[in-house]
Amino acid sequence: MGNHVHVRLHQGLSVSEEGELVEHYRCRCGATWTKVYQADGTDPESPA
Ligand SMILES: [Zn+2]
Repeated sequence: MGNHVHVRLHQGLSVSEEGELVEHYRCRCGATWTKVYQADGTDPESPA
């Protein structure tokens, strides 16, 4: 179980108090990530 490539499984979305969109990811090993999209930012890859 030494070398392990994390697999970021999408766990859902939430919205922070500032109105930022927060994406949650989790690997099967227990590692977690969050990705925050700034509310006033412009992400060209955003589906919405
Ligand atoms: Zn992992």
